[in-house]
Amino acid sequence: MNPCRTVRPRLFNFSNSYSELPERFYARLRPTSVAKPGLIKVNRKLAEELCLDPDMLESNAGVAVLAGNSIPDGAVPLAMAYAGHQFGGWVPQLGDGRAILLGEVIDQNGVRRDVQLKGSGPTPFSRMGDGRAWLGPVMREYLVSEAMHALGIPSTRSLAAVATGEPVQRERVYPGAVLTRVAKGHIRVGTFQYFLARNDIEALRLLADYTIARLHPDAFNSENPILGLLERVVDGQARLVAAWMGAGFIHGVMNTDNVSLACETIDFGPCAFMDNFHPHKVFSSIDHAGRYAFSNQPSVCHWNLAQFATTLLPILGLGKEDAIKVATDAVNQFEDRFTEAWLTVFRRKLGLAVNKNNESLISGFLKLLAESEADFTVAFRRLTELTATGGKGDDAFVAYLGGNHAARDWLSAWRQRLGQDRRPASFRQRVMNSYNPALIPRNHLIEQAIDEAVAGNFQLFHDLDRAWTAPYSDHPQSDRFTLPPTQEEVVCRTFCGT
Ligand code: AMP
Ligand code: MG
Repeated sequence: MNPCRTVRPRLFNFSNSYSELPERFYARLRPTSVAKPGLIKVNRKLAEELCLDPDMLESNAGVAVLAGNSIPDGAVPLAMAYAGHQFGGWVPQLGDGRAILLGEVIDQNGVRRDVQLKGSGPTPFSRMGDGRAWLGPVMREYLVSEAMHALGIPSTRSLAAVATGEPVQRERVYPGAVLTRVAKGHIRVGTFQYFLARNDIEALRLLADYTIARLHPDAFNSENPILGLLERVVDGQARLVAAWMGAGFIHGVMNTDNVSLACETIDFGPCAFMDNFHPHKVFSSIDHAGRYAFSNQPSVCHWNLAQFATTLLPILGLGKEDAIKVATDAVNQFEDRFTEAWLTVFRRKLGLAVNKNNESLISGFLKLLAESEADFTVAFRRLTELTATGGKGDDAFVAYLGGNHAARDWLSAWRQRLGQDRRPASFRQRVMNSYNPALIPRNHLIEQAIDEAVAGNFQLFHDLDRAWTAPYSDHPQSDRFTLPPTQEEVVCRTFCGT
């Protein structure tokens, strides 16, 4: 049976709820039309998951909607208001400056999902920006968000990318594009901060109720649902950041406006998956102090959650001191939650059976990776292969990790531990294979795909998308997509999508 309730000959069956919140939550406006919409890609599988007809999306009428040139029936387009701490500095008003929420759809699992155009023209929140996006960031977000999802890490999704046929002025002129982003919700820590900054307690209550109902409905069963909401977001963010760490992902711009209350990865600006491992690695061209370096991500997340908790103090229904105490306790659960999630992530990556005494094996391996500057993804995948070889290949692996005693000692400690676990090697290998991807969205390939697309050739973009949506499948290690970049190909910096 088709799980989508009805199949109607309409582009979207919108069912909007955010637009029913008071008008101070958003600005209603239509996207700005573009000169010459051209389809780059519709994510057909996601379309089906959303109960949409991919053929209709690919038609001229569909592309016109995805470019912002036509508004489908039932859409109530709006730009959401939010604020945020950017690199620790407070900005009382940000908001969707280049994005417009078209509406919400109910997917095949009954889950409400936002459909948003990104790069769709200026809004009242654009400040000095043009409201547009160029092809590069649109392609980057499309590829990385879809790869993230395929890796099993919660993420906003990409339903489509279209070219606008208009130039966008950045450090030079680039072709413009619009991304259709899908999210469980676009409410951010910064959305709550926006109302706290205005001392709008009524709005905070409405927003909290809305967020619980939509994103964390089981919090209604808590004795104090607002506290329940905080606890769930702390837990969800701890798991999310642990999953990033397990994939070698650096978000790059963990500002509070980029922290989703749906606990999905959002905003793929200056992000990157690491090639060679170093815990202090930074990619973002604007992160001069390394605030959002790889190893800082857990503590930054903790800080962001403290900002969220602050917004809930007036609506916890407690006196000031009690409110501060329960909120602080909830936020300080982060460390334990994160550590637990992190240990689970790396236990699986190392093929260990139980969460016991694993810390030194995990940190020992990461230390070897850092010292030898080994490729994070290749090293874990090669380790996966060693599980079934009974010692063959160990020498080559030790050489890969720098060829010293430390590497050899670590490998024998690991083997000893596997012996104690008493799991069949084939089972262990299957588990490790499903947590250690062969493929990650490597930056140098994204850059190549962007360069080629700017010159009019989208083949590599399509090829990468196909490969990265099956990251755990076997790929020959000599494959262009599995190999780390050569010296000349290394990308050291990534830029915001502005
Ligand atoms: P981000 O760095 O993507 O998190 O964006 C931070 C803020 O800048 C958000 O309010 C964005 O909507 C806004 N912004 C980013 N790029 C543009 C642009 N090209 N035009 C207008 N607003 C933008
Ligand atoms: Mg953002």
